[in-house]
Amino acid sequence: MNFEEVKKIIKEAKLQNFRLTQAREAVFKRGISSWKEATSLPEELREVLEKERPILSFKISKIVYSKQDRTAKALLTLKDGFQIETVLLKPQDTWSVCVSSQVGCALHCSFCSTGKMGFKRDLTSEEITDQVLMWFQYLRKEKLAERISNVVFMGMGEPLLNYVNVVQAVRDLSNADYLNIGARHISISTSGIADKLHKLAVDLPQVNLAVSLHNADNAERSKLMPVNRKFDLDDLKKALEEYIAMTGRQVFLEYAVIENMNSRPEHIRKLADWIYSIKDNYLLHVNLIACNLGRGEKTEERVVRDFAAGLKGMGIGVTIRKSMGNDILAACGQLAAQK
Ligand code: SF4
Repeated sequence: MNFEEVKKIIKEAKLQNFRLTQAREAVFKRGISSWKEATSLPEELREVLEKERPILSFKISKIVYSKQDRTAKALLTLKDGFQIETVLLKPQDTWSVCVSSQVGCALHCSFCSTGKMGFKRDLTSEEITDQVLMWFQYLRKEKLAERISNVVFMGMGEPLLNYVNVVQAVRDLSNADYLNIGARHISISTSGIADKLHKLAVDLPQVNLAVSLHNADNAERSKLMPVNRKFDLDDLKKALEEYIAMTGRQVFLEYAVIENMNSRPEHIRKLADWIYSIKDNYLLHVNLIACNLGRGEKTEERVVRDFAAGLKGMGIGVTIRKSMGNDILAACGQLAAQK
């Protein structure tokens, strides 16, 4: 929802300012999904808004629900016909939304379904924030919750390659007049676009940063994540040191454990060595996840537990994250706008 456009329409109609407040409350507090439901507004205005500024910038083509856990995935059709996916999940007591930032992705990580689609285009900031607004409407309509608590940029695309729109989307999401999701409840996950971290620390020092690492050996990481050929582990190390010095924030290193590929004792040792080589490494924390190998298969939990124990034994902070939505292909690396 580009609320600036709504403001313009209300101003052009020469209506009083309280109409603006009513419109804002209807969208961001009550979670209406059509202007027709904004009954406090004059009928004529509702009709104009419905025609010229529908609340969402896309159509919801399909929603699927996990039978395993509290996860739902939506397939959205954008105005130009491209499709993206977004995920709603409740890992603990609060609701989180995983948003996409691009249609497809240019980075071709070998384990990722989005990467196989190739890159189509960047999403606008409105298309990003509307994914959260859409799930907010859903929670309100189903009377499941009053608010979305967390947003993670872990859906389709590399957020730091759509930098301007992602920064704008974060600012809009945390705007107290809109969805009011504090920046500390928003996480950006990058594959390691090292040359954007300095700017991110300046523009959004309060957001949480996660870096998808998946391997601490340059040659092996390049095979898994070709972006490593442009920004290798040394570039990443320097960028992280600077980021931590600027923000003083904890950074999460995401590591999807893939059996027999990045799960052996030498991988644990290399990861620990790399972390220890970074200044202020006490602010780095490893999140392990069982890698989704596509179509419902994933690395056995035992392999992930062994990996975590190995890292812990070397004094590294580590958490095993639960992979959610595996049965509906909504987990990390599985989003690919399949109809
Ligand atoms: S894992 Fe992320 S960066 Fe890599 S191809 Fe998939 S969407 Fe792109």
